[in-house]
Amino acid sequence: MTAPSSAASDLPTLKNFIDNKPVPLVSATTSDCSKTLAVTTPHTGTPIAFVPLSTPADVDAAVASAKAAFPLWSSLTYKTRASKLLLLYNALSNSTDELADLVVREHGKTKVEALGDVNKGLETLEYALSLPQLVQGRTEYVSGSVQCHDERVPLGVVGGIVPFNFPFMVPFWTIPLALGMGNTYVLKPSEKVPLTMARVAEIAAKVLPPGVLNIVHGDRVAATALLEHPGIGALTFVGTSEIAESVHQRGAILGKRVLALGGAKNHLVALPDCDVEMTAQDVVNSFTGCAGERCMAASVLLVVGDQPELIQRIVEKAAALVPGSHLGAMGPVIDSAAIERIEGAISHAEQVDDAVLLLDGRRSPGFTERRQSSGGYWIGPTVIQQNSSTDHAMHFEIFGPVLSILKCRDAAEALAVENANKHGNAACVYTKSGAAAEYFSQRFTAAMVGVNIGVPVPREPFSFGGIGRSRFGYGDITGDAAIEFFSYRRKVTTKWAEAKEKSWMS
Ligand code: NAD
Repeated sequence: MTAPSSAASDLPTLKNFIDNKPVPLVSATTSDCSKTLAVTTPHTGTPIAFVPLSTPADVDAAVASAKAAFPLWSSLTYKTRASKLLLLYNALSNSTDELADLVVREHGKTKVEALGDVNKGLETLEYALSLPQLVQGRTEYVSGSVQCHDERVPLGVVGGIVPFNFPFMVPFWTIPLALGMGNTYVLKPSEKVPLTMARVAEIAAKVLPPGVLNIVHGDRVAATALLEHPGIGALTFVGTSEIAESVHQRGAILGKRVLALGGAKNHLVALPDCDVEMTAQDVVNSFTGCAGERCMAASVLLVVGDQPELIQRIVEKAAALVPGSHLGAMGPVIDSAAIERIEGAISHAEQVDDAVLLLDGRRSPGFTERRQSSGGYWIGPTVIQQNSSTDHAMHFEIFGPVLSILKCRDAAEALAVENANKHGNAACVYTKSGAAAEYFSQRFTAAMVGVNIGVPVPREPFSFGGIGRSRFGYGDITGDAAIEFFSYRRKVTTKWAEAKEKSWMS
């Protein structure tokens, strides 16, 4: 979509935020005037704003601003930078309700989920406030009068490309630690949910020096320009596996430090001794929370043995969900492409894999009525009884409120199915046995493991990140691993001959 029509002219058109100022696209002053994309609200599918599609020239301007800000910002002490981040924390904390409302509007999360998005992002910022205590160099005499010390050095201008599914939290996985370590930053928000970060930029401009945090809006053109910009030394990406893989490969060829997190297909295992009520509730929360648009959402439930009561309670609880933004409701998915992908996967399961639909979200009365009356992207929760671990829905990242259930003979079979999963983001076991929990925890191939918790997100100082096709590059994206990512170690080896000879004593 290009320039807003006159009918939509009263909708806001966002601007990039460079040097603490909103700036129009560079191309707006030359040939291709005000190229924009409509941002729609998933509640009704109607446009609510327009987002500019930045070109390499816009990315260039943002990187130049970040580069100019780097010498001063990186020369500040950890304590001084942390004091600036504290101002940012206070300003954002005073705006959590406003930011959560933006998340509800542009993403479709319920209000409680949106507040979670903002508050979880603020936790990472809180962690960065401790960098003066966390980042300590080492000093050792390594032989005679020869001493080594090391210190962490920021990398320069770093870039971030983020997905739509957590408009606040995912950008804040990296902004606080990147800045706290002394880097300056250029972020490209998702073009599907740019409003939240646009507001964050306005708030941040009041407390951070110009150029420290720049926001460049756009699609893959802007993302590619950021990745390939010679002024960007390191970049984090979060999104689908295929793009994550290509971003990582391209970045490596260009000699950049790149961490690219990809998609997921998380397996949950219910052992015969699990607490039926707790497990059913937790599984439903995991696969329907944020309408299933979480990289940590449950996708597959492996039920060990015959547990009809558990499956029945899962279906009942999922069927009881209503569409909406209030507590206990489920919001819409992001767009019509998501609806097509989710419905396509359900149809494939039914028609090709001969799976049984225990609950069919395409025909859920409340959600169907809501979609028809509003024009929004509403689809109810779906529970599929699969026949085989090779079924399409067992591998394809549906990224919607869909749970595949597969019955397994025993624990070994369940473990083998999880282990064969090419993604390695999260896995969980439900059991009352400590020994069984330990057995699975040590054998799951996923990098983030839950015991009786279906969304096992490690909080700081622990770090967030999967393995396999969920993570390309080395390290994790938050916690102590991010301190490593956003800096390098300078090692200084010193010898004072006078100290050895004690000449200064005479
Ligand atoms: P996406 O891959 O479509 O887009 C992510 C970002 O990449 C966007 O900002 C987009 O503009 C940009 N982009 C698009 N094409 C690009 C290209 N060719 N080169 C570089 N950048 C490009 O992902 P999405 O649909 O926004 O987000 C959902 C996906 O993100 C899911 O697969 C989900 O599992 C994944 N995700 C993973 C994690 C994790 O921690 N592993 C966390 C959140 C989301």
